[in-house]
Amino acid sequence: MHIDLKQCEHIQKEAALELARIASREALEQLRLKYFGRKEGALTAVLRSLKDLSEEEKKTIGRAAHETKLYLEDALAKKEQALIEAELHDQQRKEKIDVTAPGTRVLEGHLHPLTQLIAKACDIFTAMGFAVVEGPEAETERYNFDALNVPKDHPARDMQDTFWLEAPGMLLRTQTSSVQIRYMETHQPPFRIVAPGRVFRNEATDATHEAQFYQLEGLMVGKDVSLANAKAVLEVFFQRLLANKKIAVRFRPSYFPFTEPSVEVDVTCFKCFGKKCAVCKRTGWLEVAGAGMVHPTVLANVGIDAREWQGFAFGVGLDRIAMVRYGIDDIRLMYGGDMRFLKQF
Ligand SMILES: [Zn+2]
Repeated sequence: MHIDLKQCEHIQKEAALELARIASREALEQLRLKYFGRKEGALTAVLRSLKDLSEEEKKTIGRAAHETKLYLEDALAKKEQALIEAELHDQQRKEKIDVTAPGTRVLEGHLHPLTQLIAKACDIFTAMGFAVVEGPEAETERYNFDALNVPKDHPARDMQDTFWLEAPGMLLRTQTSSVQIRYMETHQPPFRIVAPGRVFRNEATDATHEAQFYQLEGLMVGKDVSLANAKAVLEVFFQRLLANKKIAVRFRPSYFPFTEPSVEVDVTCFKCFGKKCAVCKRTGWLEVAGAGMVHPTVLANVGIDAREWQGFAFGVGLDRIAMVRYGIDDIRLMYGGDMRFLKQF
């Protein structure tokens, strides 16, 4: 192959035109191979044939070929740098956060209706000077029955009513009254507490019975605390809970092993507000709690002198209140975890 100066000039011009059209690094690599490829590169061929030139030609054509080589190497390097910068710019543009783009909606949840009710009840009692305390759901026979003056042969202890655990003497508490005992063992009167929590009964479930439900236990002990105080506290509680000042409370005689005297607590039906409806069985009243004066034996069991101290205790069934309040006709819905149900509250 014989080369001349025009060839070098031609290579430079052609390469410059091609470079201008290149838009990717792959295409640039193809172009590099076209001129500098080991086997078929156009400039490689020129450089390789320099050895066949005369000494005179080497001076002129050799220098021109070498300059073409430098020119091309430089142009390719500059083009490569420009392409890298363009790519980077493109990437940054794509990654830029568009603050006007619509966001992904975060689903907002809310508290379970029973949890809402418990929170509200605790707020009301706290405002009346009651402390909120808690106790374990897995309880001992002593705290659930013995210390509460429940006789050894009481039917409530039977397998039909109580979930006994495999550990000897352990059970799922059947009432929140166990928290009273735990609290009185470690505190000296006077005191007033409420203990909300879940309790368990080994019963067949239906629309009005569940194996688990919520109670709110109350206890107030002092020098001269009476059943009249219990009535006043419960009346204020229900009036505030149901946001109705006309709600009244009435006591009916009853029996519990841990109180003496004992009463059933009725409140004005908060479905019909005394007008008599199907929910209150046309009586105008709803039975929502049990109460009484703490039995002297219970006080003695925790080392409190019943001649010096006295007080009342009550247990409110929270599920019934929630059901009447929200118009829920099946208690099992409370624990089913069905979102279609829960979303309504
Ligand atoms: Zn009613």
